[in-house]
Amino acid sequence: MPLADISARIERAVAAAGRPAGSVKLIAISKVQPLERVRAVLEAGQRVFGENRVQEAESKWPDFRAEFGAVELHLVGPLQTNKLGKALDLFDAIHSLDRPSLAKKLAHAVQARGACPELFVQVNTGREPQKAGVAPEDLDAFLAECRGPLDLPVAGLMAIPPAEADPEPHFRMLADLAAGHGLDRLSMGMSGDFETAIACGATHVRVGSAIFGERTTAAG
Ligand SMILES: *Cc1c(COP(=O)(O)O)cnc(C)c1O
Repeated sequence: MPLADISARIERAVAAAGRPAGSVKLIAISKVQPLERVRAVLEAGQRVFGENRVQEAESKWPDFRAEFGAVELHLVGPLQTNKLGKALDLFDAIHSLDRPSLAKKLAHAVQARGACPELFVQVNTGREPQKAGVAPEDLDAFLAECRGPLDLPVAGLMAIPPAEADPEPHFRMLADLAAGHGLDRLSMGMSGDFETAIACGATHVRVGSAIFGERTTAAG
């Protein structure tokens, strides 16, 4: 679906929710997409993209940035601490802050650099054992550690609802958790459910296949 159609659907959902125009940011998730599809979306004017692997992002975005100028890049997949330096070189936002060991290393790196990406704490709203994210009941303690001793500026929360479930209760849970902690950014909603996410308060939607077409190889 053309980028303009997705943007129009987002703005319709924003208006239907009685929210101000332009209050939801579209992150175009370009993981494993052929480069010519990514280029077409850049040519259509999109400048906010997301990737789920540091190495893959490193292989395409320095070149695209050289060609197209500033592109805001979001990491939406798991971050291993040995890739932290590279991640900070590449990404403007990290949506997968999900454990104390990563928060500690991130805090050190951010202090050394004097700059911090926009940070989202990933919450495992479905308590799925195979999925990354802080358990809802551990969020209090984790945020206290980030904000207190580590002095990390957490901007918001992110979640990926269980694949087979109705996403709405998960979006509502994430919105409630964010409100309870004074966080106003919510990264939630993908190709199949971004309108529902916007109705529940999403400020950042992560849309891949609806923009680029189906991914032809497996995403990591
Ligand atoms: C791949 C991915 C998306 C985009 O998924 P689509 O269903 O293609 O829109 C969003 N968020 C995360 C974390 C992803 O890994």
